[in-house]
Order: sequence, then C-alpha cells, then structure tokens
Amino acid sequence: MEQTYGFSAAIVGGDLRQIEVAKVFTGLFKEVRIYGHPPTEVPAAVSFGSSLDELVNTRVILLPINGMNEAGIVSGYKSDQTINFGSLIPSLAKGTLIVTGSMPPRWIQKANALQLKVLQYANDDEIAILNSIPTAEGALQIAMEQLPITIHNSTTIVIGFGRVGITVARVFKALGSKIFVAARRSASLARAWEQGYEKIAVNSLDGIIGAADIVINTVPSLILSEALISKMSSQALIIDLASPPYGTDFEAARRFNIKALLAPGLPGKVAPKTAGFILSSSIPRLIREYLNGGDR
Ligand code: NAP
Repeated sequence: MEQTYGFSAAIVGGDLRQIEVAKVFTGLFKEVRIYGHPPTEVPAAVSFGSSLDELVNTRVILLPINGMNEAGIVSGYKSDQTINFGSLIPSLAKGTLIVTGSMPPRWIQKANALQLKVLQYANDDEIAILNSIPTAEGALQIAMEQLPITIHNSTTIVIGFGRVGITVARVFKALGSKIFVAARRSASLARAWEQGYEKIAVNSLDGIIGAADIVINTVPSLILSEALISKMSSQALIIDLASPPYGTDFEAARRFNIKALLAPGLPGKVAPKTAGFILSSSIPRLIREYLNGGDR
C-alpha cells in the first residue's frame, strides 16, 4: 500500500487498542514504531521500539485516549507501567505532532513554546459517541454483577445527558429500568423527557435520590455530595463514569456504607477490539484533517 506521508509515526503507551491503530498507520506512514507494548502479532511494517530516545526523529507521536497527566505521565500496557513522556518533550524536533486523547493546559503551553503541535482527540464527537456504546455496556455489566436485583423494574438515575449519559439511559431503559435523567440545562431535560425518561434538575436531586437503586454519574464535577449520599438507600449502587475530578464524594459514600465504584476506561476493558476499531477508524481522519488543514 502506498503511504500518504513520507515520514514515520510512533505509538507510545496505551493498550490493545493502540495495536489496531498501528495496523492502520502502516497505510499512512513510512514507518510505524510502538513503545511500551509487549511484542504481539502486527504487520511487518510495524516495529517495537526499544528506547524512547528514538522519538526525536519521529514526526507524529500518538498517545493513548487518557492522554498525559499533570505529571507528564502516559499509561503503559500494564496498569502499573508508566511512561514519563513529559521528560521527552524538550528533546522532540520542532514541528512534531503529538496526537493525544488530552493534554493538561500547562503541557500544551510548553509544547507550543517548543514549536510542537498538539492534536487532542478524546473530545472528538465521533470518537466520544461511538465510545459511549462500550462504556454503557460496561456500566450495565457492573450493575448486573454488583446488584442482587434485576435491571428490569429497578430505578436508575443518570446524571448528565451528554454523549455518555444519552447512551447509558437508552441501554438501561432497554432492559426495563425506570430512568430519571438529571441535567442542568432545560434543553437536555426536554430531550430526556421527549425520549421517555423522567427528568429532574441536577440541583433538585435530593427529592428523588432516595428512590434510586442505581445512580450513574457522567458529570466530571462534584454532584453526589455528602448531603445527597446521606439520603440514598443503603442498598443503592453508584457507578461513576466521569473523568477526574469525578462526580462523587467517595469518602462520604464509604462513611454512609453506600457502594460507589469508579469505572474508568470501560471501552478498552469491556470491548478492546471494538474500542480499537473506533480509534483506528477515527484517528487517521483527524490526523489527515490536521495535516492537510493548513496549520503544518
Ligand atoms: P459530554 O458529552 O460533555 O457530557 C457531559 C454532561 O455533563 C453534559 O450533560 C453536561 O451538561 C454535564 N455537566 C458538565 N459539567 C456539569 C456541571 N458542573 N454540573 C452539571 N452538569 C454538568 O461528555 P461525555 O462524552 O458524555 O463524557 C462524560 C464523562 O464520561 C467525561 O468525564 C468523560 O471523560 C467520561 N468517559 C468515561 C468513560 C469510562 O469508561 N468511564 C468513557 C467515556 C467517557 P451541559 O450539556 O449542560 O454542559
């Protein structure tokens, strides 16, 4: 296959999903190297890099969907493996494109100052909407495993009605749960009602929280405060899907003996193949649009 770009790309960290992206990258780039993964079956055009120092000659570097954290750390293949990508940033060649799920603002500033380019993809609508499917299925799996009751005839409160909340509400309703959607915008509440759910303003949750068997939070900001948790049934389950700083006072949940689970990275855990396909079919498009879009 003829490559689109005459330069190399590197894939740093992440999980099996990144292998799927590497396969597609072979059709785009002259050479593709993967770092932080054990050898696995890949096309001949993909090689496993040994030292991250080699990245100085790489024009495009892909980081995982959870991106780089405040300390500059990127997650590796195993949960206890980390890669200090931040320490490499100063040595990257000017013009290198870092494609990352997300990057903290101070690191973006640093990259810009070094004339590096940063493309963030976790918030891309196509990726986020498609990823909401394995996320909702993962939440359902957790609820079924953790609760002694059926989803059918249960009461579920879904907090936040964005890309994940919409899919979670649909999936739980499909199994017969009574759904309350809590959102802050009247337009979101109107849409929730139109789709057949009960609606509740997020700041009025105290009137209904006691009826919930399952509370699924998708808002990355404290919603399930100590005051709300204190009104929950002791049999209820909280599943917090949001990214940091999350939406649950976990310490309060522990004190009130309410089971509250943080469930990050569900697409890669419950459906790595599908989640890999989602990334491998979207990221090349984003890179093409970025590289062809003028700001080179
Ligand atoms: P989204 O489309 O931006 O939706 C976020 C929702 O939260 C919206 O309804 C938004 O309301 C609401 N919201 C945000 N801040 C709020 C606040 N302070 N008070 C009340 N409501 C607030 O995001 P998404 O794609 O659904 O993702 C939701 C979260 O799930 C993110 O943190 C994302 O990183 C995470 N996620 C987790 C997994 C996993 O495996 N656990 C997978 C995918 C995504 P407005 O519309 O009014 O702004």
